[in-house]
Amino acid sequence: MKLRSLRFPQVFAPAFLLLLATGAVAQQAAQPKPEDTEVWQPVPKIVTPGATDAQPPSDAIVLFNGTNEDEWVSAQDHTPARWFVHDGVLTVNKAPGVGNIETRRRFRDYQLHIEWKIPTDITGSGQARGNSGVFLASTGPGDSGYELQVLDSYNNATYVNGQAGSIYKQSPPLVNPDRPPGQWQTYDVIWTAPRFNADGSLKTPAYVTVFFNGVLVQNHFALKGQTLYIGQPFYKAYDTAPIKLQAHSDKSEPISFRNIWVRELN
Ligand code: MG
Repeated sequence: MKLRSLRFPQVFAPAFLLLLATGAVAQQAAQPKPEDTEVWQPVPKIVTPGATDAQPPSDAIVLFNGTNEDEWVSAQDHTPARWFVHDGVLTVNKAPGVGNIETRRRFRDYQLHIEWKIPTDITGSGQARGNSGVFLASTGPGDSGYELQVLDSYNNATYVNGQAGSIYKQSPPLVNPDRPPGQWQTYDVIWTAPRFNADGSLKTPAYVTVFFNGVLVQNHFALKGQTLYIGQPFYKAYDTAPIKLQAHSDKSEPISFRNIWVRELN
């Protein structure tokens, strides 16, 4: 057929259809697809969980498994730890001159699991009743460090930013899930170390999240600095630090720890 004999729509219909088709393809390309937001790499490393949530996963560093305190030293002079290991637990030694213990290893950011028990025959009151502590970074013998308080807070009034689950004198626990003396209790902690500028000034604060017996008690709390007994908290630059356990000087019966493990998050 001759072109000139074709009427307008017949001439342009194919081009018009092509335009329509092209538009449809373009529209299809712009249409979001499920695959657009799928990420396939890098694949997270496989970690085998413990038989229970209390048991260390395959990538954890075990700091106490019930048999010895080889991972611990005196915080004062770094001689081997002299607390008591018996029946699978680690008990504070309150004898004069023994003092706090800390890990041989140093850490920056980590996940920590630790269990503690106030003895059934605990005596004393307030801060003098089962006082210990987990110092999330032990930055030196002259420093206070950063203390997650351990205390019998089952039925024992004290200042709330000093009860079990508090960040000492900075942040009371959101709730009190304390169990009675004689029962094991757990802390699961996520610690993000503070970061410092080259001149030693603070770049970003330390953050801590704490589950106490599985209950959230500290939710990404930004620390104001080291946890001081007296005075306002302040930061002092450090890079990595041991984790320290407190031998508190009160006269109440010593508390015990077990199942201590840590996962580095560097
Ligand atoms: Mg304490």
